Amino acid sequence: TPLSQIRNFSIIAHIDHGKSTLADRLIEACGALTAREMKGQVLDSMELEQERGITIKAQTVRLTYPAKDGKTYILNLMDTPGHVDFAYEVSRSLAACEGSLLVVDASQGVEAQTLANVYQAIDANHEIVPVLNKVDLPAAEPEKTRQQIEEVVGIPADEAVEISAKTGLNIEGVLEALVRDLPPPEGDPQAPLQALLVDSWYDSYLGVIILVRIKEGTLRTGDKIRMMETGATYNVDQVGVFQPKMTPVKALGPGEIGYINAAIKAVADCNVGDTITHDQRPAPAPLPGFKPSIPVVWCGLFPVDADDFEKLRDSLGKLRLNDASFHFEMETSAALGFGFRCGFLGLLHLEIIQERLSREFNLDLIATAPSVVYKLYRTDGSMEELHNPADMPDLSLVERIEEPWIKASIMVPDEYLGAVLTLCSERRGVQLDLTYVGNRAMAVYRLPLNEVVFDFYDRLKSLTRGYASFDYQMDGYEESDLVRISILVNHEPVDALSFVAHRSAADARGRAICAKLKELIPRQLFKIAIQAAIGSKVIARETIGALSKDVTAKCYGGDISRKRKLLEKQKEGKKRMRQFGKVEIPQSAFLAALKMD
Ligand code: GDP
Ligand code: MG
Repeated sequence: TPLSQIRNFSIIAHIDHGKSTLADRLIEACGALTAREMKGQVLDSMELEQERGITIKAQTVRLTYPAKDGKTYILNLMDTPGHVDFAYEVSRSLAACEGSLLVVDASQGVEAQTLANVYQAIDANHEIVPVLNKVDLPAAEPEKTRQQIEEVVGIPADEAVEISAKTGLNIEGVLEALVRDLPPPEGDPQAPLQALLVDSWYDSYLGVIILVRIKEGTLRTGDKIRMMETGATYNVDQVGVFQPKMTPVKALGPGEIGYINAAIKAVADCNVGDTITHDQRPAPAPLPGFKPSIPVVWCGLFPVDADDFEKLRDSLGKLRLNDASFHFEMETSAALGFGFRCGFLGLLHLEIIQERLSREFNLDLIATAPSVVYKLYRTDGSMEELHNPADMPDLSLVERIEEPWIKASIMVPDEYLGAVLTLCSERRGVQLDLTYVGNRAMAVYRLPLNEVVFDFYDRLKSLTRGYASFDYQMDGYEESDLVRISILVNHEPVDALSFVAHRSAADARGRAICAKLKELIPRQLFKIAIQAAIGSKVIARETIGALSKDVTAKCYGGDISRKRKLLEKQKEGKKRMRQFGKVEIPQSAFLAALKMD
């Protein structure tokens, strides 16, 4: 296929505006799958994605489209996640394409992540093709949405196609617009190979699979390749494309997106953003690559069963291969033993990784309280980044602590603005701007990340009945009056539950956590004291009364099988508990303790 007949595009949108549904319709329209194979959402293939109805991983499909001009085009489509926590996935997809298909829900209009995604696409020099989705809904206002796209997003929208990804209305109009308005890729098939390593993952049958975008040159089965950053070399066993099933091809030329399978053993050889070239005839220089992702939330992950430590290390390595925005390093905890300190792009990201570890790798884990990264300046002049509240030294050794701030954009219908402004000021927010788009307000705030990371998004959604949208960027560090709050269970500090908070919020948070733990820790045969303390000063306390009788006493009449079942259930529950001195704390307590309601 000549380059003039290739189009590479990402589908971008605010969450729930219909990206994945549209991707399915495009696949169907191009006949890539039979009606029988089109079940559910094709691209959200991970079990977790289907359950939660969100896209976590970007996905790629090659489509063949016979256009009205009589030529047959190859369309490479990349579906992308919409949630802020997965922005890094989006940026990588964008780097592999020349254009973006912008989906806007015509019943909702432009949202915070519509804007954030468009800005990213513009940064990547993309041509943008807007479409107005969900016009089948009675509440759809395509004309108003068209105007919003022009005024707020700042791109022309008079030709934007009105579609329904649900009913399939006007899908051909989308395909024609893509062929007409997107630029074809450029590149020389004879040049030295430059292939961008966009993504990689672990397939239990084939081993490591690498997703590449060929920028220059041609890659064939049997070629010896070299990763320019890591220097590793491999022989290519197979190259292929996703249709959407993995389909081998003889070669991948410039402008094409496809996969490589090369019996890669060392996961560390595959760095997302690296350039792959030929070993014998290397490219003079690598491609620009990606900005490294910087984790904003850290927590400890420990195996419930200490024997699972090596398995956890191996599983984290495999997940990291599939998710370059996830970081991990070894750590030890007095209470929890050997484990890993892990970095994430947000709390949803953390939850998803934890779930994947338990489902895909069958690991039982305990997660410690999440924390943002603080900068700690000691009185001796040294500075360190504090990822773990348990590592905070005595305050007499600390000259000052700085905490990360973000700049957040929140879009919300007028009637909920009051509630949003209250929430932001409760969280120490500073208003920077307030403007209107029709009857919707766009508030720009600076907020400490610490106040946002745990439950801000959930609170915002519930206060606005789901109508607010939210996006943020990091915005530097500032000195702050922060203290570490330790949690003591029967007077023993539990390092994994300690956290950092602003002094003004310390008492309230300390009380809230003690109350929460009182609910979460099951009664035991003795009284349990729960305390929150700053240094040696106790700021809150709760007591859990002792269990009066043997639980099995509930089973009247000596029903042996019921009794056995109950005991088994307890044993099952125990696997997810941790022993602190004499007290058992369920794993759910560690994360739940920090979510305020
Ligand atoms: P994504 O988050 O952008 O990938 O959005 P999805 O494709 O998962 O769609 C979100 C929800 O909107 C799903 O419940 C879809 O069934 C629904 N949806 C998508 N397109 C349309 C449409 O054209 N009309 C209507 N009525 N619903 C749609
Ligand atoms: Mg989706």
